[in-house]
Amino acid sequence: MAAPPPARVFGLRSGNRTAATPRRRQLIAGTTRTPAQIQKDRHAVKISNKWPIPRTRRIKESRGIHRDGNSCYQLASLQALLHLRKFMNWILTHNVQMDEGIQNPCDDGALLAYSCVACLIKRLIFKYWGLHKLDTAGHPVALPTHDMDMKAMEAVADHWYLPEGSGMIRGQQDGEDFQFKVLEACILSTDCHRELDKRIPRLVQTRETWVCRRCDHPIPNPRTYLNMHPDPELGFLAMRILRTGRETIEDVIERKLADEPCIVTAACPHCNQENPPKTRQYCIEAAPEILRIALAVGSHDSAGNVLKERNPVQFEQTLDLTNFQHDQNTPLRYRLSSVTLHQCETLHVGHWVSTVQGYGKKVFAINNH
Ligand SMILES: [Zn+2]
Ligand SMILES: [Zn+2]
Repeated sequence: MAAPPPARVFGLRSGNRTAATPRRRQLIAGTTRTPAQIQKDRHAVKISNKWPIPRTRRIKESRGIHRDGNSCYQLASLQALLHLRKFMNWILTHNVQMDEGIQNPCDDGALLAYSCVACLIKRLIFKYWGLHKLDTAGHPVALPTHDMDMKAMEAVADHWYLPEGSGMIRGQQDGEDFQFKVLEACILSTDCHRELDKRIPRLVQTRETWVCRRCDHPIPNPRTYLNMHPDPELGFLAMRILRTGRETIEDVIERKLADEPCIVTAACPHCNQENPPKTRQYCIEAAPEILRIALAVGSHDSAGNVLKERNPVQFEQTLDLTNFQHDQNTPLRYRLSSVTLHQCETLHVGHWVSTVQGYGKKVFAINNH
């Protein structure tokens, strides 16, 4: 399957842990997972992977959102988030009254344009998947342009893109950047104590190793363990697609993690060279539950003009990253959840759309208009 670039791919980690049978659990008990991965999985397993749809809603299909002005970049990115089950169930733990007090309360630092973004996303989840506005046959009706929560989202976007007093007018923005900002705001409001492993959609933790190019043996890296390069935040960012015509997502990720020259001074204990030439390599130390892959939308030509990247990239329904891990004995497979695309010749205008997998594995091409 080839898709026109640029694409945003959201992969959901395949549920080999949540759907564990007793036999599978035994296997996991004897796992070779890294401590960082075990800790991440411990939190992820507590979050439900069910659709947040009430039993009483008979027709469980996705619904549209009517567009008001240049907001397709917001709608396409939100539609992708509204089809990520673990993300939604994670956000639904925000600001919940419990016996012992409020769980994951709103964070003052995350209040934007008088809205808590996490509370806003929560309300949208209830509306989108709940009993809100069903037609007589029970089909969900698209959210109208005057929907209060969509208006609040617009105010949040204005806060991000139209600084007060800048005189700028509301226009098209980068859907990927908008989604990144929404996720960042959600993390602030659900994880004010900054516990890395509790962040469901965040952090590909990588491990950096050094290899002696004289004898091909590893050189101990004193900064061992979690080196945050490359792109730890919110999955893989600004991934470049080469003009080969045959690029796959795996190729793009492999290049991101591939060897590069390392200029650190260090001796090789194997060949006893004082400071041999060496390369650094990265492997995945701990993978997030939800992986977000953002492909670069633009590049510069020799005159410095911004051009839209149009190189094609191929991807399948599943993405196997097992061999990119430090621990290659535990499968690391993601299932594709959604793709968000920008359609147009140039980056300054155009239209954003999403293809998502909805309830019952039905695929919807969502073009909010
Ligand atoms: Zn809140
Ligand atoms: Zn050596």
